[in-house]
Amino acid sequence: MTTDRALVLFSGGQDSTVALAWALARFDAVETVGFDYGQRHRVELDCRLTIRARLPALRGLRGDRLGPGHLVDLASLGAISETALTRDSEIAFAGAGLPTTFVPGRNLIFLSFAAAIAYRRHCRHIVLGVCETDYSGYPDCRDDTIKAMQVSLSLGLDRRLVLHTPLMWRDKAQTFALARALGGQGLLDLVIEDSHSCYRGDRTRRHGWGFGCGRCPACDLRVKGYAAFLADPNDTGPDL
Ligand code: ZN
Repeated sequence: MTTDRALVLFSGGQDSTVALAWALARFDAVETVGFDYGQRHRVELDCRLTIRARLPALRGLRGDRLGPGHLVDLASLGAISETALTRDSEIAFAGAGLPTTFVPGRNLIFLSFAAAIAYRRHCRHIVLGVCETDYSGYPDCRDDTIKAMQVSLSLGLDRRLVLHTPLMWRDKAQTFALARALGGQGLLDLVIEDSHSCYRGDRTRRHGWGFGCGRCPACDLRVKGYAAFLADPNDTGPDL
């Protein structure tokens, strides 16, 4: 019997934390990869370590399946990206309707690096927490983009890779509900306390939904999602 191995793109954010828990429930061995591209909210990289350390102790989660965590230095991506995620500029919506936090092609680059690691580590599955239901409009988060990347990477590596996006059709409220369904109150508490969303990297202000400035687009999604989750905590959304 072959071991089904997965590599999870894990930033330390809410979505990738739930994607990691999802992967632990499905695959025999799970590794993670994070990317340091000079993001303003670098604090998420520290959250990543905290979450990895605390996950195995949670009841109901297969933390024993959690393997090594990889960190890739992509400083050059930050250097070529004039965006509000990598520069100290205003976070707002730009002309094309995209937020100024958009780093062009970020997920395409992340996936290419992840595929190289997956190849070397014999991981057939790559899991990422992208979502086009309740997101900021980034085109590289869309389902068609990810499906096209699966084809490109499988062809380019001449090895079958399967890209999984368990949150693609779930909104933020359903992602909170999925966390609770996967790992009970323990995982929900971990997501709230230790996962990071805020683009400004604010971990000084604690709200019911976690830490953050409460005003940037990432906080805005999280605030509204948590409120909707409290109103309907059992709706985990479609499992497509
Ligand atoms: Zn914020």
